[in-house]
Amino acid sequence: MLKGNPDLSPALELVHLSRSQDQLTDKALFKLSDGQVIETVLMHYPDRSTVCVSSQAGCAMNCGFCATGQRGFFRHLKVGEIIEQVIWATNRTKLSRSDRRLSNIVFMGMGEPLANTKNLFPSLRRINSEIGIGARHITVSTVGIIPGINKFTHLDLQVNLAISLHAANNQKRSALIPINNRYPVEDLMDTLLRYKKATNRRVSFEWAMIDGVNDSDQDASELIGLSIQVGAHVNLIPLNPTPGWPTKGSPIQRVREFAALIERAGVPVSIRDNRGTEIDAACGQLAGTIDLMSHGEQIYLENSAKIELGALLN
Ligand code: SF4
Repeated sequence: MLKGNPDLSPALELVHLSRSQDQLTDKALFKLSDGQVIETVLMHYPDRSTVCVSSQAGCAMNCGFCATGQRGFFRHLKVGEIIEQVIWATNRTKLSRSDRRLSNIVFMGMGEPLANTKNLFPSLRRINSEIGIGARHITVSTVGIIPGINKFTHLDLQVNLAISLHAANNQKRSALIPINNRYPVEDLMDTLLRYKKATNRRVSFEWAMIDGVNDSDQDASELIGLSIQVGAHVNLIPLNPTPGWPTKGSPIQRVREFAALIERAGVPVSIRDNRGTEIDAACGQLAGTIDLMSHGEQIYLENSAKIELGALLN
């Protein structure tokens, strides 16, 4: 257990908790000591309970389909702020589901975890050694920050690596994920091959299905090519609506057809459960936008100073 930990003075103040109608997803809005806000999502499945953790207040990556990216970057989360989200989820799981423990952690909340390795890596070690979550039950998701993946390769922990790929050629990927201009697909694949060689671990590709944008047979074929190249597992995610993005998710029938094409090529593929859409808790929807006027103050991310991308990646 965590004890005598100076990082864990009250780092997070719970200011709002939303629960989905089926009671299986909770979204917590936390205020940090400097007034920034972050979100943490706890999801209960038949066989496990998973928390989706934030690593930054906001995000500098500016992925067009993501509510967090649309709001810009404010700051990295500290070790205590990351770990406290996991402690909240552990306690909340115990409280609402007495029959089970928190079992899985995914770094897929607000922020790009591998742009904050300084605080992410010590957090991973402590979540593993002090909270007792097995490294293989922890997944770090990145849009493809190559220096961060290189450091992750030498992290002496068997934490899973997921790449938010979403498009398999540079033209389309750069339009969806601007950081692809700096770290193009070919360089990313070379990096993943080195990762695989050094760790003998399989990566997964996350692919948010966007209607008419990345769900054609040609997209499937390009994705299959990259997946075979690096031996990746593919997770298809029906895209969630966000206010600043005019497109919509692929119909579920198309998601299934796309999955079938991938499967037929011998690449392992899953269709992810789309959780918490009605409480804006699903993938790409975390923005810390809840109106907090009822708490006597208004916290909007726009009120804080934004930091430019270049300063982050040095
Ligand atoms: S998808 Fe991830 S990396 Fe991209 S803007 Fe959103 S939080 Fe940042």
